[in-house]
Amino acid sequence: MRALSTRVVHAGRDDLKSLGVHAVPVDLSSTYPAQDSSSAGASLEAWVAGHGEAVNPVYARLHNPTVARFEHALAELEGAEAAVAFGSGMAALSAVLLAARQSGSNLVAVRPMYGSSDHLLASGLLGIETRWAEADDIAAHIDRDTALVFIETPANPTLQLVDIAAVVAQAGAVPVLVDSTFATPVLQQPLRHGASLVLHSATKFLGGHGDVMAGVVACSEHWAARLRQVRILTGALLHPWAAFLLLRGLQTLVLRVEAAQRSARVLAKRLEQHPAVRRVHLPGRGDARQQDIARRQMRGPGAVLAFELHAGEAAARQLMARLGLITPAVSLGSCDSLLQHPASLTHRVLDPDTRRACGIAPGLLRMSVGIEAVEDLWADLLQALDAGQAGRTAVA
Ligand SMILES: *Cc1c(COP(=O)(O)O)cnc(C)c1O
Repeated sequence: MRALSTRVVHAGRDDLKSLGVHAVPVDLSSTYPAQDSSSAGASLEAWVAGHGEAVNPVYARLHNPTVARFEHALAELEGAEAAVAFGSGMAALSAVLLAARQSGSNLVAVRPMYGSSDHLLASGLLGIETRWAEADDIAAHIDRDTALVFIETPANPTLQLVDIAAVVAQAGAVPVLVDSTFATPVLQQPLRHGASLVLHSATKFLGGHGDVMAGVVACSEHWAARLRQVRILTGALLHPWAAFLLLRGLQTLVLRVEAAQRSARVLAKRLEQHPAVRRVHLPGRGDARQQDIARRQMRGPGAVLAFELHAGEAAARQLMARLGLITPAVSLGSCDSLLQHPASLTHRVLDPDTRRACGIAPGLLRMSVGIEAVEDLWADLLQALDAGQAGRTAVA
């Protein structure tokens, strides 16, 4: 098989040469002419049954050829039979929950996770009960009504790793969904470790430029059919322009992740040595167990790190305000570096006890490292950290 750095460039584009074009064509039709009504009818029936292919797209809520290209690309990169794309990561997660649940179903999930995923599960909005478990204690929470086990690794915002194979072993016949947004298929392929479904907020690294919202689930054809049916009925579509941008972003995915990851490693080391910093989180740098999980399921730590300041929340907010080059903003996976304060932003909706229990300290900052020169990033962080130190010394 060709290298991943080759496949990200060509995935979803196999037929372009035969079409006589070089760039991905964007199909913006909302409806499609019926060449004859019986074949349009047969196509409609196929889409509604969840098929991934039929002769006539019929109507854009049923199928879009540009979106299908992105899905083929993602399936290939994750080593999956199929992928189904949605208008956001949350739409993708909602579709999985709707596809998995039956009346009375529960799901078992591990904290911490992305703030809105936590909020969705805790809200019970989609009629599925959530049982929160420690990663080693999932089996004890499963019963005959458990429809899904859901983990996020690396987890947002603490970069805690969950052992996918160990979770799959505990789950038995229950399908395991892994949110692999932070890892991307460059660093981790959860299906190889036995997961049934992989979810990405493609808004992040897959898009890569902070200008598109999207979600995608890679899975078996069987799951994909159910997800397509949910998408048709709920209308949680990915727009074809977004699919175009995602296919463009994918071409540089390996380059971007590798470059940003190199810088993240350097910044993590330097942050660890700064007197204002209590601890630094980066996958593979925690205790022996975390290191072992990283070795077995990841090809590198990725480009998101978190660090905790001794001086707590006020210092964290001040540091954010002092940044010049690094943008104080939520989200991650852009070309430019972003930094945010989880306790007051992404994980604000969690109750304080839950935040504390899953390691989201008041002084914790999460940084999505971009592809700028690492010395420029460090200079920005250092002046903000040093200004905080100087301020405190002056007060003392
Ligand atoms: C951003 C994010 C999501 C939600 O994705 P949206 O595209 O914002 O809806 C889910 N999981 C993780 C890990 C994320 O970072």
